Amino acid sequence: MTETKPETESPGLRPGRIGKEEPGRSSQGLIDLAEKYGARNYHPLPLVISSAKGVWVRNPEGKRYMDMLSSYSALNQGHRHPVIMKALAAQAKRVTLTSRAFHTDQIGPFLKEVCELTGFDMALAMNSGAEAVETAVKMARKWGCMKRGLGPEKAEIIACANNFHGRTVTIVSFSSDEQYRRDFGPYTPGFKLIGFGDAEELRAAITPDTVAFLVEPIQCEAGILIPPAGYFRQVREICAKAGILLMLDEIQTGLGRTGRMFAFEHEGIRPDVLILGKALGGGVLPISVTLAGAEVMGVFKPGDHGSTFGANPLACAVARAAMKVLRDEKLDERSRRLGEAFLAKLRTIKSPHVKEMRGRGLIIGIELNPEAGGARRFCERLMALGMLCKETHEHVIRLAPPLVITERELDWAFKRIKKVLEMTK
Ligand SMILES: *Cc1c(COP(=O)(O)O)cnc(C)c1O
Repeated sequence: MTETKPETESPGLRPGRIGKEEPGRSSQGLIDLAEKYGARNYHPLPLVISSAKGVWVRNPEGKRYMDMLSSYSALNQGHRHPVIMKALAAQAKRVTLTSRAFHTDQIGPFLKEVCELTGFDMALAMNSGAEAVETAVKMARKWGCMKRGLGPEKAEIIACANNFHGRTVTIVSFSSDEQYRRDFGPYTPGFKLIGFGDAEELRAAITPDTVAFLVEPIQCEAGILIPPAGYFRQVREICAKAGILLMLDEIQTGLGRTGRMFAFEHEGIRPDVLILGKALGGGVLPISVTLAGAEVMGVFKPGDHGSTFGANPLACAVARAAMKVLRDEKLDERSRRLGEAFLAKLRTIKSPHVKEMRGRGLIIGIELNPEAGGARRFCERLMALGMLCKETHEHVIRLAPPLVITERELDWAFKRIKKVLEMTK
């Protein structure tokens, strides 16, 4: 039983620097514990992070690493941003959870601010991204019944091959990734897949039962796949003509990541439904939101849908601070400026391993040739040089630093990436 004795409280971390580490356990000891007691649903790099600040993290032995993954864009504001930490501490002293049986003094202001930031009428808050996608699916189906007069169990939603929208049974039901689906059936019906980036396929797939098209502006998990220019303008027009909802999953691309506050701005369109998560919680707490016009969101009546922790006052206070940081520090503009310069610089690297480099703002994919032996070994070498990133789909190195990163820090990263990509073996 000695193995499971409770860990002591983490020591306080001083502002402006990374603090002292958890005493008494080595990285290997901690990895062994997780492997012994944890389900094996992840295959993490062999690194233990025990403290973090801004773009830097540290292991229990005190070695420092640059975080170029940002929890898949949940850390756009950096680790433990002081404004967000202050909001967290202040709210923690007042009230943290009430359930939605009561109002709080945080939910109204949070909903108003997220609607103002995005330009939508109404929002529904949940916790994880997958729950916000589920919310959009339920809303579109109910909208189909109530506003389009579809019979029950008729509504059909179109999604794209290679999508990533989360891990619930319904969401993996329309995944095209074998591993996400295999052995998890029976699956939820009512979804149809088309190719990503081809508007004509969408036009051809729509039937009288179609209620929505659910799509990511950039397919990040699929390997940072950017659709051809004009795709979303065409998609917008097709959805409007057919009277179906365009539902954009901006859980990863939203909130500044691509160099605009939202990726849909790149083509000057507006979706009917917008789904946000990840960086909405400022790298501190899970909070997600589904946004729509009053006509669409209006289909939900009391009791239709909900979540115990959804829109809890602690998460709302954190999300308000997270949005304030994005606005005040203009992290979208910063992402655009630094991202463009960084990608241009990366493209000067001469490497036999690289097939293509692509990106928008500070989400960048380096696609390797199939002969390069997979992206993971490059990520492992980068880790040895003090830089953390993660492969996505076998052959792509994903670079997505916190948007608060400086030019000097990006230069630091560039030197290491260049070194690793120029290895001959
Ligand atoms: C991460 C992600 C999700 C799922 O979010 P969770 O919080 O992990 O449930 C859904 N869609 C996209 C595009 C994502 O990147």
